[in-house]
Order: sequence, then structure tokens, then C-alpha cells
Amino acid sequence: MIPRDFEYYAPKSIPDALGLLKQFGDEAKLLAGGHSLLPMMKMRFAQPGHLIDLGKISELKGIREEGGTIRIGAMTTENELIWSKLLQAKCPLLVEGARLISDPQVRYKGTIGGDIAHGDPGNDHPAMMLALGASFVLRSAAGERVVPADGFFVGTYDTLMKSEEIMTEIRIPTPAPGTGYCYAKLKRKVGDFATAAAAVMLRMNGETVREVAIALTNVGPTPLKARAAEDSLRGKALTDASMAAAGELAMSICDPAVDQRGDAEYKTAMAGEMTQRALRMARTRAGH
Ligand SMILES: Cc1cc2nc3c(=O)[nH]c(=O)nc-3n(C[C@H](O)[C@H](O)[C@H](O)COP(=O)(O)OP(=O)(O)OC[C@H]3O[C@@H](n4cnc5c(N)ncnc54)[C@H](O)[C@@H]3O)c2cc1C
Repeated sequence: MIPRDFEYYAPKSIPDALGLLKQFGDEAKLLAGGHSLLPMMKMRFAQPGHLIDLGKISELKGIREEGGTIRIGAMTTENELIWSKLLQAKCPLLVEGARLISDPQVRYKGTIGGDIAHGDPGNDHPAMMLALGASFVLRSAAGERVVPADGFFVGTYDTLMKSEEIMTEIRIPTPAPGTGYCYAKLKRKVGDFATAAAAVMLRMNGETVREVAIALTNVGPTPLKARAAEDSLRGKALTDASMAAAGELAMSICDPAVDQRGDAEYKTAMAGEMTQRALRMARTRAGH
């Protein structure tokens, strides 16, 4: 289908973009890479009369580390994440996850901010953000607020972000050296969304788990933090039995939508499997 007519704007600064958002209110939509928004517009699920392209705002791009925090501009593309030496060295979970997103075309244009702001439980960054303990900088004409990823996703295509806000930056506490990580994603074919996926960050203290974070993709209306699974592992040895038990606990919070990728039982089982697979790989990468 063809989208409805719209006016296109390409502001060069955040204040200009915020001014347009304020002027047009709910009639306006922000455009990042366009890989989720444009299909929605073609199907007329979204019908903005004014499209505000963030692509010319250089301030929204880039990856840097400051005082123990990795700061990523919301308009940074998937490929820029993959190619980042900083992320390869200090936050390889994001590199691994971004490599598993769709195909080269989508990764050249699709942005981390758009992937998060879209609120699609099938997108991969939201679960990685939960596992990394990230927070998001949201700016409006009234000022700036920083909200944790945990609690940001409130429903399918629904987040805490207000229509007058722009996500400007993603902040991630730099993982401690030696932290194990893995994004395990099951998909039917290259380029597909996850049937189920699990993001794991793991710190060991000798043979026992010091800290662990587990989050799941596409097995609920939002990305899910597997808190009971995490609690079951802290302070314990990471054995086949404890990982299997954590997988079961992860499965217990799943409530997947049924679609062509499988029924609820299958997707739930795969979430447990991906959790165990990610834990095993994270343990190896943590040196155990
Ligand atoms: C064939 C295909 C396969 C895909 N497979 C995957 C996959 O496996 N995993 C995955 O994670 N994604 C996948 N995607 C989605 C892709 O990653 C999108 O790029 C992403 O969901 C949205 O990012 P975008 O930059 O394209 O945002 P857009 O499509 O431009 O915007 C998406 C939404 O976010 C809002 N928005 C964008 N940026 C901001 C901002 N800075 N502040 C506030 N609101 C903002 C927009 O207004 C819009 O509502 C796939 C897409 C396609 C077409």
C-alpha cells in the first residue's frame, strides 16, 4: 500500500526537531532508519501528517565512553555498533546482538534508538538493554530525563516515552573486564526476527556466580527480565543442573504471541533453550 500524504522535515539540530514536534503534536512522527516506521506507514498503521527526519542531526550519532559509562547516540546504526572498536573491546554483547539483526540493508540504516523506541518485543536491542542495565536519555522542550531500560517497555509498541520526546542517547555502565556475555537467538532463517532469544551478562567469583542478568526477546508483550532465573543462580555454582533450572524459571514468565514462528509451547521451550545456551557461552567467555 501507499502511505498517506505527509510533509517531510530534516532539522539539523535537536532544538529544531523538538520545535517541530511541539508544533505538530500527535500529527508528527520521528523518522530514524525507517525500517519499522515506513512499513507501518505503508500498511497505514501509522499515518503521520508530518515526518521529522533525525538523520541530519550529527549530535545524535556516535559511541564514546565517559567515566565508566558507554554513551551511544540514538541515531547510531547497527553497522556502526558492529564496527565500533570500543564496543568490540568493552561491550561485545551489543556487537554480537547487532550482527544478528536482519540483513545488511537493514543494518546500514536501522538505528539503535529506533529499535528501542519502536517498542516491538521482537526487536533485539530491548532485551540486550535490560541485560546491560542501560538507561535512555529522553529530551523534550521542557528538559531532559534519564529512564532505566528496566520499566521502560510497558506493552507491545508501547514505552514510557512521550510523543513530545526524542531519545537522544543510550547509556550503558561499562561491563567489568572478564564479564561473560552472550546473545543467543533462534531464528528460522537469516534476516528473520527471533523465534526466541536470550541476552546474558555474567560475572563469576571463582566457581560461583557473582552477578548475572538474563533478558528474553519475543516471548511476551515486552522484553522480559528473567528475575527468578537470575536469583536462582546468584552465589551458586553454574552447573548443567542449575542452568537447566534457570531455563525452566525463564520459561515460567513467557507469554508469547502465536504466529508463523510457532505456537506458545514451542516458543516458550525455545526461550528456555536459548537461556541455557547463552548461560553456557557466557560461562566460557567468563573463563570457566
Ligand atoms: C526485513 C526486516 C527484518 C528485521 N529484523 C529485525 C531483527 O531481527 N531484529 C531487530 O531488532 N529488528 C529487526 N528489524 C527492525 C529494524 O531493526 C528497524 O530498523 C528498527 O526496528 C527501527 O529502527 P529504525 O532506525 O529503522 O527506526 P524507524 O523505523 O525510523 O522508527 C521506528 C519508531 O521509533 C521512533 N523513533 C525512532 N528514533 C527515535 C528517537 N531517536 N527518539 C524517539 N523516537 C524514535 C519512530 O518515530 C518510530 O515510531 C527488521 C526490519 C526489517 C525491515
